Amino acid sequence: MIIAIDGFSSCGKSTLAKQLASKLNFIFIDSGAMYRAVALYLINENIHLDNIDEIDKALANIHITFEKIDGINTTFLNGNNVEQDIRSLKVSGHVSEVSALSEVRKKMVALQRDMAGNQGIVMDGRDIGTVVFPDADIKFFITADPIVRAQRRYNELISKNQHAELHDVISNIQHRDKIDSTREDSPLVRAQDAILLDNTDITISEQFEFAMNIIHQKYPELAVK
Ligand code: C5P
Repeated sequence: MIIAIDGFSSCGKSTLAKQLASKLNFIFIDSGAMYRAVALYLINENIHLDNIDEIDKALANIHITFEKIDGINTTFLNGNNVEQDIRSLKVSGHVSEVSALSEVRKKMVALQRDMAGNQGIVMDGRDIGTVVFPDADIKFFITADPIVRAQRRYNELISKNQHAELHDVISNIQHRDKIDSTREDSPLVRAQDAILLDNTDITISEQFEFAMNIIHQKYPELAVK
């Protein structure tokens, strides 16, 4: 069974995905972390985005894996823990340009489908319900007021001792929303059969309850822990 969660930047998609995966005993896959890891690699190696040959070579050398460390989903790039680095504003400022490249998307989508195997999974991203798993069993499309989203992301960065200015976070979110929704390859759009959830005025637990109700309506037999 596959639950796809798509939506705009900093909408709490991963928060919901983690909660659902834990409740249903499914695997959680953060597809955004994979694009972030590619962006980090290209920044570190100083590879320019118009150099497609170099990008192709880089993609062959990029190995992304996830591990749970102390119960926290952690991203590894070529064996190194990059969980903190991929969340920096530097990576956030570059990732949408990287993920607009078809070469990058092709590799990430193949990896995402491979990672899913045949287990229960919850995957969040921008194109999960439209491109990666168009036949997903349940699809959510999440949105929220951009200023509310920026404030939440800012609070999160500060709580993790990362330096951030609110105005930078706001412009980064607007920048990513624009590129993600207007790129040619796999733009962020709501799948026709995705359930729309605007969480501007609801809490994390209300959002979780809403999603669990939908899942139970559709799959009353689904066992929960
Ligand atoms: O989900 P997160 O905000 O961490 O994603 C970072 C970026 O990765 C997005 O802004 C988007 O450019 C890209 N992305 C994507 N397709 C996905 C997931 C993320 O293009 N499925």
